[in-house]
Amino acid sequence: AVAPPESEVSTVLTMQDIHHAYGHHTAVAGIDLTVREGEVVCLLGPSGCGKTTLLRIVAGLEVLQRGHVAVNGWALGRPHVPPERRNVGLAFQESALFPHLNVLENVTFGLETLPARRRRERAMELLALLGMERHAGSYPHTLSGGQQQRVALARALAPAPGLMLLDEPFSSLDARLRDRIRDDTLHVLKKLGAGALLVTHDPEEAMFMADRIALMRDGHIVQMGTPRELYCEPADPFVVNFFDTVNELFGEVRGGRVATPVGDVAAPELAEGEQARVMIRPEALRVEALTTPPAPTHSHVVMAKLLGRTSLLHICAHGVDGHEAHLHARVPGVFLPEEGQPVSIRLDPSQVFVFAAGASPAHG
Ligand code: ATP
Repeated sequence: AVAPPESEVSTVLTMQDIHHAYGHHTAVAGIDLTVREGEVVCLLGPSGCGKTTLLRIVAGLEVLQRGHVAVNGWALGRPHVPPERRNVGLAFQESALFPHLNVLENVTFGLETLPARRRRERAMELLALLGMERHAGSYPHTLSGGQQQRVALARALAPAPGLMLLDEPFSSLDARLRDRIRDDTLHVLKKLGAGALLVTHDPEEAMFMADRIALMRDGHIVQMGTPRELYCEPADPFVVNFFDTVNELFGEVRGGRVATPVGDVAAPELAEGEQARVMIRPEALRVEALTTPPAPTHSHVVMAKLLGRTSLLHICAHGVDGHEAHLHARVPGVFLPEEGQPVSIRLDPSQVFVFAAGASPAHG
């Protein structure tokens, strides 16, 4: 399907110039963000960067201190519109079900504006979408954590809110279950065409769920874009580091390039003579075992570990100029050379990023 032009897609959430402080502590500052109809936007970032604060402002659980918030074009900040009148669905990590109501009653709870018959239909529809219709008559304490989470999602989605707010909704689930419920949730969101703002600190979850990611640090958005943009065109070292533990080398720009022990890399953005910070993803290193007798100085394997789908190699790399570097390489499949095995290394330039050495320090 061809996406309609920008102007024809309606915006379900607009946030402009949001600032929020707890006492003297600034939690978020200068936040601009939109969520379009049918779009999932993830707020991603390390603990304490302000993700939950933004969600609580949209939900109406925090009173807007500065800036502008609108859902479906309705300003919600001043005067403060209470949470229950915002037409937003909330699914928080700790979303508790009503213990004295069965599953069906839990989901119909927020549907009092519908006629009784329609209410039941709607609830069953959502339970079916999340694979829970068989449990309609069960009470929460008889369900597993994952089942409870599905019911909580069904309850939040049932009133067909224009905007869904999800705060780490999968974090209490074990890995296998989490993958399934993520899948189902995304499917339901897309099917209902709801806009969604989802908080997570897990880059993989954000990549999977999001149409666009807002990567945050210290109350600011560092970069906003599609998963591909953040991963392939990171704005600064923080963005690179957030997705992966990378190899870092430093060097001086000479003739537009920086020499490293694993080959030189282009530094088109940097000035001649400038100190460069070269960030090399473990996947960027193409490692091959050498069978021919190696040169006196050669790169060799220090350690190899099988991680499952990939093998992690610790390599001591020797450059032609005699420089040496210790690097991590991740290669697909089972590749477990012995310690001391001579190797050749090539770089995949699309997984290498070069910044000025003084660029913003990496956290997290
Ligand atoms: P996490 O991933 O750990 O939930 P977060 O990115 O959601 O973190 P917030 O919960 O929004 O971050 O918190 C942002 C900052 O505001 C943090 O420094 C936090 O300590 C502070 N903060 C959050 N809530 C309060 C509060 N009620 N009172 C005082 N400070 C708060």
